[in-house]
Amino acid sequence: MSTAPVVLGIDIGGTTTTFGFVAPDGTCLAETELPTRASEPLSLFMERLTERIRDAFAPISVGHDLKGIGIGAPNADYRTGKLVNPPNLKWGSNVDLAGLFRRAFGVPVAVTNDANAAALGEMAYGAARGMEHFMVVTLGTGVGSGIVVNGEVLYGADGFAGELGHTVVDPDGRVCGCGNRGCLEAYASAGGLCRTFFSLLANHDGDSSLRAVPFSGLSARLVYEAARQGDRLACAAFEETGRILGIKLADAAALLSPEAIFLHGGLAAAGNLIFDPARRSLEKHLPGMSRQRVKLLPSGLGNRSAAVLGAAALVQRHLEKEQPPGFTTPSTR
Ligand SMILES: [Zn+2]
Repeated sequence: MSTAPVVLGIDIGGTTTTFGFVAPDGTCLAETELPTRASEPLSLFMERLTERIRDAFAPISVGHDLKGIGIGAPNADYRTGKLVNPPNLKWGSNVDLAGLFRRAFGVPVAVTNDANAAALGEMAYGAARGMEHFMVVTLGTGVGSGIVVNGEVLYGADGFAGELGHTVVDPDGRVCGCGNRGCLEAYASAGGLCRTFFSLLANHDGDSSLRAVPFSGLSARLVYEAARQGDRLACAAFEETGRILGIKLADAAALLSPEAIFLHGGLAAAGNLIFDPARRSLEKHLPGMSRQRVKLLPSGLGNRSAAVLGAAALVQRHLEKEQPPGFTTPSTR
């Protein structure tokens, strides 16, 4: 019996890890989600994840052949296959992610950061098909960006280009997970939205359905649900988050001249609550000649995980053609 090739795409996020088996046409099979549990040791995470992957592959293993694994993860270095000081994961400073998966599954492994993976997914299967210059900004536990220039992901000299989340909004501003102050991530991530909401609560005596919720119990989802119900302070928190995000998107657009900027991740799922103020602010802060040229768009992948598809597209690409230095196959390590 003949088997169809699939690659495994894995998106490791600060809160949730998602994986799926992706066919060459972009069809994703057995997509599965599990909590990352960022404070848990890496060995336990690997144990849970590999078991879930084997369980998910078992029912489709008869007709499918696993050819490779692509992984998107925060601070993952495309060139070495390693996770370097992942900001929201307590796994140590230098994790050989590619090596771990290669040993566990015996197939070639390619690694990139989660935002680059999302950009690759949007380019291969989403709304950026045919675009040569665009950017994907991921708004989740952290804030990342994947930049595509001339149809290629921009990695930069050290492999970490695209850290929009750690560009500065306010040098005297909030402390960021990276140790600096005033980074975009401290404002436009899920946690940043909660911090903005709390400071609005503290500075305004207006009524809010969330006034009785302690900070430890607050989540971006609660702020979103309150905003959907018309809660004035929750709406104001989204407005302020979008305003700050738009300023940094205008900076990025001034540097890169993208055709479009795509917003992905949990906060992007809030739709117009975040897109409307971000669009207004982007437009206001763009240089004159660029106004009304840069589109701010949602992912074209709908409910499908861009990072899973992108991680799959990455390894697919390397199975077909060039291989980065960090690309490990069973025979190379
Ligand atoms: Zn930072």
